[in-house]
Amino acid sequence: MGRATRAIIDLSAICQNYNLAKSLASGSDAVAIIKADAYGHGAIRVALAMEPEVPAFGVACIEEAIEIRDAGVKKPILLLEGFFTADELSTIAKQNFWTAVHRIDQITMLEDAQLVAPVKVWLKLDTGMHRLGIDATDFREAYDRLHACENVSDIVLMSHLACADELDKPHTLQQGALFDQTVRGVSAPHSISNSPATLAWPTMHRDWIRPGLMLYGASPFEASQVNADKLLAAMTLESEVIAVHDLQAGEAVGYAASYVCEENTCVGTVAIGYGDGYSRHAGTGTPVIVNGQRTRIIGRVSMDMCAIDLTGLTNVGVGSKVELWGAQLSVNEVARHCGTIPYTLFTGVTRRVPRYYI
Ligand SMILES: *Cc1c(COP(=O)(O)O)cnc(C)c1O
Repeated sequence: MGRATRAIIDLSAICQNYNLAKSLASGSDAVAIIKADAYGHGAIRVALAMEPEVPAFGVACIEEAIEIRDAGVKKPILLLEGFFTADELSTIAKQNFWTAVHRIDQITMLEDAQLVAPVKVWLKLDTGMHRLGIDATDFREAYDRLHACENVSDIVLMSHLACADELDKPHTLQQGALFDQTVRGVSAPHSISNSPATLAWPTMHRDWIRPGLMLYGASPFEASQVNADKLLAAMTLESEVIAVHDLQAGEAVGYAASYVCEENTCVGTVAIGYGDGYSRHAGTGTPVIVNGQRTRIIGRVSMDMCAIDLTGLTNVGVGSKVELWGAQLSVNEVARHCGTIPYTLFTGVTRRVPRYYI
């Protein structure tokens, strides 16, 4: 059977999390965001499983969209970064992709193109994130040019929130107010909400929500949040114990001998490391589950392996299953120990880790 390291992906959990998003924003449609290989969960399998329920998918760029389309997914696919060069427009039109427009020169490219069909455009306004988007002062001209352009079928007005995961900050409502002030008098659907806004900022829901992270069962928030607490983990990252060593107090574990046993310690070596995407920032004390029992990482994570503390656990040894995060251990908790966010842990799981779908 070989190396036991794998990611088990629960597709029904993803569909249930999508339905939670829909029920929280009951008046809205929901684009399922599956960029970065569905946050490491496998975009093709995720899209095929969700397609019956989902009106459209969102990815970063045309390369991601083509891969999903070639796999047989028929629904529209929104390019969140838009197009980079004019030659992408004929593929966008032919493949029924939707595209963000966040720069004025993209409008010129649309006006100059010869297309088989007009395309649906998501006009992106910068309301304070200052990453992508047209300035409020240029919005009206941009909208009017797109509206007049025969290569444009429909226009959705979108923006992206910088601080929606921080519930006590004023930025989200300020961004919403600038959005409303800027688009006043224009009749077109709105789209503002990512996962945290879907979960916690109902006035941002509008016509189209754009949930990503929450589909995969991780919370975008640092602290517990009533809706986020209902999410179901979709990915269980697991491996097994492949060696056991009984060490004396004073003996060291792993590279740099950075962990020194304070007492006699039973150490398990687990077949997963940063070459699989298990973070090297998972220091001593990061939780893991062995045979249903909670214990901790000790010492440095290496490329292919890491060490865990088996002292005092019952019924564990070579072959015991180890969960790094998933159904029994929240990826949010692991991310906190690594000084990062669930987004990077999910997207960091490497090609060496086979995905199994249930
Ligand atoms: C990635 C992304 C989303 C989804 O964000 P989550 O925080 O994962 O829900 C929504 N909108 C845009 C523009 C994005 O780039």
